[in-house]
Amino acid sequence: MPISGSEIVKMLPGKKPCKDCGFPTCFAYAMKLASGGATLEKCPYLAPEVKAKLEDLLAPAMKLITIGSGDKKVQVGNEEVIYRHEKTYIHPPGIALLISDKEDGAKVEEKIKKIKELQYPWVGITIKAELVAPYFESGDKNRYLALVKKIYDSTDLGMILVAKDLDVLFAARDICADRRPLLYPITKGNIDAAIPKLKEKSTPIGVRAESIEELIPLTTKLKEAGVDEAVLDPGSRNIRDAIRDQTFIRRAALKQGFRLLGYPTIAFPCFMAQDTLKEVLTASVFINKFASIIVLSDFNQHTLLPLLVQRLNIYTDPRFPMAVEEKYYEIGEPDENAPVLITSNWALTYFIVFSAIEATKIPSFLCVKDAEGLGVLTAWAAGKFSGDSVGAMIKKSGIESRVKHRRIVIPGRVARIKGELEEALPGWEIIVGPREASGIGAFLPEYAKSLR
Ligand code: SF4
Repeated sequence: MPISGSEIVKMLPGKKPCKDCGFPTCFAYAMKLASGGATLEKCPYLAPEVKAKLEDLLAPAMKLITIGSGDKKVQVGNEEVIYRHEKTYIHPPGIALLISDKEDGAKVEEKIKKIKELQYPWVGITIKAELVAPYFESGDKNRYLALVKKIYDSTDLGMILVAKDLDVLFAARDICADRRPLLYPITKGNIDAAIPKLKEKSTPIGVRAESIEELIPLTTKLKEAGVDEAVLDPGSRNIRDAIRDQTFIRRAALKQGFRLLGYPTIAFPCFMAQDTLKEVLTASVFINKFASIIVLSDFNQHTLLPLLVQRLNIYTDPRFPMAVEEKYYEIGEPDENAPVLITSNWALTYFIVFSAIEATKIPSFLCVKDAEGLGVLTAWAAGKFSGDSVGAMIKKSGIESRVKHRRIVIPGRVARIKGELEEALPGWEIIVGPREASGIGAFLPEYAKSLR
């Protein structure tokens, strides 16, 4: 549970006020610490034991874990709320593709190709699976290491190394250590042997137990050893137990502030379901509740895309509508006679209108007015898509230098801004377009002809 500023200030030195931290009082500094806006290093008078205690109290309730490196790194954890509507979820679960070393060369190639190619542009971003999990199943160490090397050489993705044999697990880590692979599983049976090797190189690990109760001594031992980058697997292998365990871990971390379960979790639909449909449904449950890494045995576009869209929807911050930048966008290669249309900057509105124009194959300019991420009608009702503000945007955008005509198409739903916009844009003719984007296909071809 987060500590408040008034609790922190009781632990500060309280010099009268010396201001060496850059804040006018200890209380002001404490408030900043509580909100995450300052670090403990700023006050030089903190006793070491107080500093250590504050460090612990100020640490996030759930650890942030990084797998992979560079722009392909995947970060999970650091969540602050149980339910998205309380604030927002922060780090979407990483979706991983399991590749067994028992699979033949052609299948391995196919899976590597799949995870590289199945990427989808979606309202301005690209959604995709981002982790690959080589699985030691054959019992042949060399075969597994060859698989790890092949994946390492042919992708730049984050990796989850799945091998029960510690010798094999650490040999695999040495192949791809620079990519910060996650090592799984660390268990009651191998933890003592694993800790010295884990301390050699900082690497995230997956802690596997047969129950939540069994996880706690393992995380205690890891904390004591200073190995703290972990994701948890409570061992549940059916949906009912998994929901129970995932919920318990999330609540213990965030509501009770129980540090020994304050880690993200990993889930394995690949080991829980016998057929593809059940596996996808199980993965879908884990996206909602509350896995941070989800490992699938296989996927194709029909099974992966719905999961990616579900994940995007759940992990989109509900406080901020998805929006695109205010400017004019070119569709095709518009010339000086091309139509000019305007819409608001809610991402969904923008992409629907853009796609409708694109489908007509008529090169056009689409001006997008910043309406704080609202759709056209809502933006108008909120005073963010008025004739004045649209006129100002058009003047500022530079579109006047791109076309020789002075005609602009406004959405039919806000026809009432026509008069105001004519006043704001002297010399421009305001055309009222279709009420819905679906009408653009019928409207635009004839209209474009009239401009030539
Ligand atoms: Fe208080 Fe420390 Fe800041 Fe001085 S430096 S005002 S003692 S918090």
